Amino acid sequence: MEDQLSRDLQFLIRLQEIDLDIDRYSEECEGIPEEISNKKQEIERVRQEFDEKNMAVKELQSKHKGLELDIAAIEETIKKQKTDLNVVKTNDQYKAIQSQIAKLEEEKSSIEEIILKTMEEIDSFKKNSKEAEANVRLEEGRINDAIKLIEAKIKEYEDKLAVLQEERKNLVVSVSPNALKKYDYIRKRGKDGLAIAMVENDNCGSCHIKLTAQLINEVSKNQGLVFCDNCSRILYIQKN
Ligand SMILES: [Zn+2]
Repeated sequence: MEDQLSRDLQFLIRLQEIDLDIDRYSEECEGIPEEISNKKQEIERVRQEFDEKNMAVKELQSKHKGLELDIAAIEETIKKQKTDLNVVKTNDQYKAIQSQIAKLEEEKSSIEEIILKTMEEIDSFKKNSKEAEANVRLEEGRINDAIKLIEAKIKEYEDKLAVLQEERKNLVVSVSPNALKKYDYIRKRGKDGLAIAMVENDNCGSCHIKLTAQLINEVSKNQGLVFCDNCSRILYIQKN
């Protein structure tokens, strides 16, 4: 009886170490899919920003083409009006056509200004485009590397978890069912996953309350599981 109890306590101490590690690695693994999906969204955003700029340039280029066509049409009309000037009969007609020509020239020069601005914008984008493209690739590479690191981390955690689960499986068969039941119950009830606490300088190693001499005496008698009056964890005395 005494021997089994000592063994149980030793097993439970190890079991608690394993369970805390399992908790820790499981918790780490839980956050990882979200971490990866955030990184992938980051790539998406960088790429999208670049695509949007490219799209804007395409729009500018097509706007530029349209404006050139407008100019050509205006020039054609001006040419026609100038021919008309040669055949007008009255002074009024002449003036009317001249004022139309002046209006068209004005319109033409304002379109030319817009064309200049558009070309400047296109030029400046083209100049920056190569650099921007390189930056996008760099950023994508950086994010992909970060994802690889995260994936390696999850693999490492999963491997550790598998080893721990295996050790746990082998361990629990050696613990008395009653002690294991109490351990699992106390562990599930608490927030920190601790079920077993060492007596440290007459205090509970977990909740740190001062333990009565009688309680410590019971623990040292080693005749059954003894629980902390305050936190209800299983108490044990470290034997060197
Ligand atoms: Zn306690």
